[in-house]
Amino acid sequence: MIKMPSGNSYLDDLRSKPEVIDPPQIDELLEVCKELNDSAQSTFKPNATISSSVRELLECPVCLNSMYPPIHQCQNGHTLCSGCKPRVHNRCPTCRHELGNIRCLALEKVAASLELPCKYQSFGCSGIYPYYGKLKHESQCVHRPYSCPYAGSECSVVGDIPYLVAHLKDDHKVDMHNGSTFNHRYVKSNPHEVENATWMLTVFSCFGQYFCLHFEAFQLGVAPVYIAFLRFMGDDNEAKKYSYSLEVGGNGRKMTWQGVPRSIRDSHRKVRDSFDGLIIQRNMALFFSGGDKKELKLRVTGKIWKQ
Ligand SMILES: [Zn+2]
Ligand SMILES: [Zn+2]
Ligand SMILES: [Zn+2]
Ligand SMILES: [Zn+2]
Repeated sequence: MIKMPSGNSYLDDLRSKPEVIDPPQIDELLEVCKELNDSAQSTFKPNATISSSVRELLECPVCLNSMYPPIHQCQNGHTLCSGCKPRVHNRCPTCRHELGNIRCLALEKVAASLELPCKYQSFGCSGIYPYYGKLKHESQCVHRPYSCPYAGSECSVVGDIPYLVAHLKDDHKVDMHNGSTFNHRYVKSNPHEVENATWMLTVFSCFGQYFCLHFEAFQLGVAPVYIAFLRFMGDDNEAKKYSYSLEVGGNGRKMTWQGVPRSIRDSHRKVRDSFDGLIIQRNMALFFSGGDKKELKLRVTGKIWKQ
């Protein structure tokens, strides 16, 4: 049912310049889509009706991801994504014939005409995006799930904030506190073993939000240092509405830090490595601890407020 312009100079043109397709071709391809779609509805609702079958066509048979240009096809018309093409050793994964180097411009054009819902629809995003713009949106979608903020383990759990709060509590046994002020003690019997004091996390609930207080030791050059910082369980634009202060002291000494919590979109490591927090040299930490160098005893007090 492909209607070609009379004389077919069009196709001739395509054959001589395979990279160029004139805009009218899109409409023709959409016609084909409608045919392919075997749709019971007679009215043409572009996205709702064609999207599911075309979406299947746009799924790479090897990696099952959505395909983006250049989309490849074998001589028999089986398609393949450009990421998988180098991996199949020039054999079509579907029919095993030689793959060659054929680009499936028709499918690429069909894809360009599609609009699809954001993949985080189930997380609350109601956005509809052009096929080729969808990836970019999804990489920044405010509804995209967050990664588990727990540091020190390769935890791969993702979810929205209420889900992650429950996960931190139940699976990581993290201490939970209500209120915007806190007073915390970190005691370690051997301050010379950096690993001893690594990764402590407390979750604070205030202003209807959740904050992660990280306290940890890490090696900076040859010397271990301690760092404490706050992360906001939410997006960066919300995080900026809050401030926090941390104070560490003891034995007549005191040090204060004031900062802005970082979103948990920024990885724990990224925040730590940017030193965006209260940094305590080990010698200073030992002074705060009482100076006997046997034990690390740090008292950290803090406050979170809304600007
Ligand atoms: Zn693939
Ligand atoms: Zn094939
Ligand atoms: Zn979205
Ligand atoms: Zn986790």
